[in-house]
Amino acid sequence: MSPFNLQTCARPNILALEPYRCARDDYKDDGTNILLDANENAYGPPLANGSTLTPKDGPSLDLTTLHRYPDPHQAPLKQLLCNLRTTHAHTPKTLTPANLFVGVGSDEAIDALLRCFCVPGRDKILVCPPTYGMYSVSAQVNDVGLVKVPLLPAPTFGVDVPAVTAALSGPEAAAIKLVYLCSPGNPTGSLLGKEDVRAVLEHPTWNGVVVVDEAYIDFSAPEASLAEWVAEWPNLVVMQTLSKAFGLAGIRLGVAFTSPEIARLLNSLKAPYNISSLTAGIAEFAVSEGGGLAKMRENRARLIAQRERLVKEMPTIEGVGRLRGGEDSNFLLFEMLNKDGKPDNVTALAVYERLAEAKGVVVRFRGKEHGCLGCLRITVGTEEEVTRFLAELKQTLAEVRGTAPAADEEKREVEASGVVA
Ligand SMILES: *Cc1c(COP(=O)(O)O)cnc(C)c1O
Repeated sequence: MSPFNLQTCARPNILALEPYRCARDDYKDDGTNILLDANENAYGPPLANGSTLTPKDGPSLDLTTLHRYPDPHQAPLKQLLCNLRTTHAHTPKTLTPANLFVGVGSDEAIDALLRCFCVPGRDKILVCPPTYGMYSVSAQVNDVGLVKVPLLPAPTFGVDVPAVTAALSGPEAAAIKLVYLCSPGNPTGSLLGKEDVRAVLEHPTWNGVVVVDEAYIDFSAPEASLAEWVAEWPNLVVMQTLSKAFGLAGIRLGVAFTSPEIARLLNSLKAPYNISSLTAGIAEFAVSEGGGLAKMRENRARLIAQRERLVKEMPTIEGVGRLRGGEDSNFLLFEMLNKDGKPDNVTALAVYERLAEAKGVVVRFRGKEHGCLGCLRITVGTEEEVTRFLAELKQTLAEVRGTAPAADEEKREVEASGVVA
């Protein structure tokens, strides 16, 4: 068991916070009370006619109550998220709303954890490159230092457990408060091993918190999520989001599953009304059986089919190298090869730019990330998008690697030679 001690790990100013309470925690809005407690507009919102938004097969959003502040606790939404993530695959225990923090995307949770545990100018977080950029951005904003322990080389991209363990035992160990692990990783697409996560959680001397970012978990094997493991570990946070598999990046809804004690700290430090009523209404619909879950699963199956298609078809294109990461996400990390058949950043960058500027296909260049030489990260699109992407990539690689004239050059050559097609 780890020596984790919340009272000595969290910042004293945060431990001293009380969760936000509003008058409505004491006096529920039962529809009969006159609510003169929160300086809201009693006449309601200035929205034309429409009292409810009832998009076909969508949530019913009551716009007539938007003059009221949203619920600061979001217990109904949290309960639905608990229902979704309690699988009893990893523990017989059951998640409850007390295990949850909901924020403005996972990005709010990433930042809230830093503010909760890390004293600016003194403390640090440990990250495992190549990984999601927001951990270091948020650390920098908070004047919190970075300790980097790279993932094992591709294609596994697993946690280097001995190196992480050593860093958490070394001279900087006392300053390291959080370890951010991304599973499945971005940009690696690889699910981390449960036993590797357990090894970090069980570190014999380190007093800190393990944060597992599961933004892409719904594209992984069923029951891969470790969210319910927070019922077993006092020093675990599992973050999820509605931005990816649920297709709701626009509503900004992120979730952190953790112990009730850490959840209480996060809920105490957040802005009281961080989740808007519209966001909560759409989120509740999206994560409900009988609501959006069936559609999410249907769309997910279609994306996974296209992911499998890309894994099969990409290697048949001249100039495409190895798949470098895993297949646990809605994107794939592929090498671009130069004329000598070597993974190469000049080639990858040229393909990236040409795809975007001449072909209207935007992917992500990741060649500068640790262990990702020559790599592009390609998000899995719709069937039509994948068809178009594969054709444009094939043409672009031929142009960039000089095995075919560029389409526009070809045209100019034809014109210059006086031949009219
Ligand atoms: C996209 C992504 C997120 C999502 O962030 P939101 O703020 O919830 O939109 C979180 N973590 C990783 C690794 C991501 O790639």
